[in-house]
Amino acid sequence: MLEGLLKGKVALITGAARGIGKAIAMKLASAGADIAFTDLKEDDNFKNTVEEIKALGVECRGYASNAADFEQAHTTVDQIVKDFGHIDVLVNNAGITRDGLMMRMSEQQWDSVITVNLKSAFNFTHALTPIMARQRGGSIINISSVVGVNGNAGQCNYSASKAGLIGLAKSIAKEMGSRGIRANAIAPGFIITDMTNALPEEVRQEWNKKIPLRRGGTPEDIANVALFLASDLSSYVTGQVIICDGGML
Ligand code: NAP
Repeated sequence: MLEGLLKGKVALITGAARGIGKAIAMKLASAGADIAFTDLKEDDNFKNTVEEIKALGVECRGYASNAADFEQAHTTVDQIVKDFGHIDVLVNNAGITRDGLMMRMSEQQWDSVITVNLKSAFNFTHALTPIMARQRGGSIINISSVVGVNGNAGQCNYSASKAGLIGLAKSIAKEMGSRGIRANAIAPGFIITDMTNALPEEVRQEWNKKIPLRRGGTPEDIANVALFLASDLSSYVTGQVIICDGGML
């Protein structure tokens, strides 16, 4: 049913060799988009993702690039435009956690999370908005989190970065709407990936009890929302946060 929805479009997803980013890349590819994705290193996950996406019948290239680095982000975007000609969708997905209570949090824990999660989105949005403005269209999707909306003890760095991604999307929506650029955020709840599998079993059980749908989300649950925001199905939606959390908030 959704085949061809994104035909002729090019989507760039950061941090997409695994987890939610990969699921988004696969979903957009299954709707016909050509895919450019970034990740830190060209490891087996990276190579497998390229092959799995190509098997869906679209173009795909991976770019080893640190999303937190301003210069690398700009060089990567320039290269993608050379390779693909245009970029229509940007998904700011790359993210890390370095949890700890405020009183014990090091400056390094704070800086690394803010830089990888929030500054990376600035880097790519900064590189891409002039391109999208010339194209007079584009969709920017920031992968935030429910803790960016509600906060979470032990994650002040992560929550602040995710709240920042919401502010960034809302501001870009206001600044760039007249050029046809839409910007939105997705706030996932508890999604089963390597990031959450690293949590202790009892913490994961506690999260599950708070979810009315009584299950953790899958990366595909988030990818379905990303497909909506990437495509013209959401042509009059901008500056919004879509919470996808099984009803937890
Ligand atoms: P994940 O499984 O840990 O995957 C994160 C991906 O980002 C990995 O491919 C990682 O690369 C890449 N990455 C990390 N730092 C990077 C950098 N500096 N430059 C480029 N790529 C980088 O995480 P996930 O659960 O899929 O999360 C994806 C996004 O969703 C994150 O922004 C996360 O905060 C957000 N989110 C997740 C949940 C959840 O419950 N899982 C909930 C809310 C929001 P390597 O493989 O090289 O490490």
